[in-house]
Amino acid sequence: MPGKVWFVGAGPGDPELITVKGRRLLEKAGAVLFAGSLVDQAATRFSPADCEIRDSKDMTLAEMTTWLIERADRHAVVVRLQTGDPGLYGALIEMTQPLTAAGIAWEVVPGVSSAMAAMAAAGETLTLPEVTQTVILTRVAGRTPMPPGEDLESLAAHKATLCIYLSITLLHKVQEALRAAGWAEDAPMLVVHKASWPGQEKIIRGTLADIKQKCQAAKVGSQAMIVASPTLGAADWPDLVRSKLYDPAFSHRFRKATETTHD
Ligand code: SAH
Repeated sequence: MPGKVWFVGAGPGDPELITVKGRRLLEKAGAVLFAGSLVDQAATRFSPADCEIRDSKDMTLAEMTTWLIERADRHAVVVRLQTGDPGLYGALIEMTQPLTAAGIAWEVVPGVSSAMAAMAAAGETLTLPEVTQTVILTRVAGRTPMPPGEDLESLAAHKATLCIYLSITLLHKVQEALRAAGWAEDAPMLVVHKASWPGQEKIIRGTLADIKQKCQAAKVGSQAMIVASPTLGAADWPDLVRSKLYDPAFSHRFRKATETTHD
């Protein structure tokens, strides 16, 4: 019986942000193939001493799947360790299809994505009552084109929270799209470089007008999450609309209202 290949989300960088399940699998792994460019190598510290560990940064997709298939013939537990969540810009299906074709079982363990880690690092919230209740995880077109209807200008028209991956070198395109969608020059923006990486994280706050200059001044040109959201800076707002769930006038399954609601 060949072993199983687990696609494990390592989280955004801090080794403590891997899930308990992901860590447990690493502890049992006979072989680990990790995504070198972004996964902190410390994440591999959970694997046993005799585990075969390989950085995939110089491998093609075909070499990676061959490696995983060969290791699954020898080990019960093989881990493909990916940054953040494996289902976001992770080439997941390109890797699982050859495994299925080779008769190898596989499973995915989700991870904390860098959008969540970036907002956590900055003490920001992705959603706020009556401000936005929607989060869009996207990117701008680089070598990978955007499918029809998904250009950033159209998505930005919703004025929801935008978490923009893989686009820090294309920040000018992000600015153009937000402007075209009617975002104000003083709309707050956030860029977090290496969110959650111990000692390496950089948090850059700015506006649509100045975020690019601020990133240049901070020498942030890679491994960064761009966030544009009407929620940014809410920690300092005096007139926050309270969440209905905790409102004394709002009944729910676990609590009866103590006041009548007015809306
Ligand atoms: N699967 C990953 C995303 C991989 S694509 C996830 O769920 O987070 C790589 C992009 O993710 C980078 O270009 C950057 O935009 C973002 N990214 C990954 N790790 C990051 C981190 N620690 N801090 C900020 N951005 C990060």
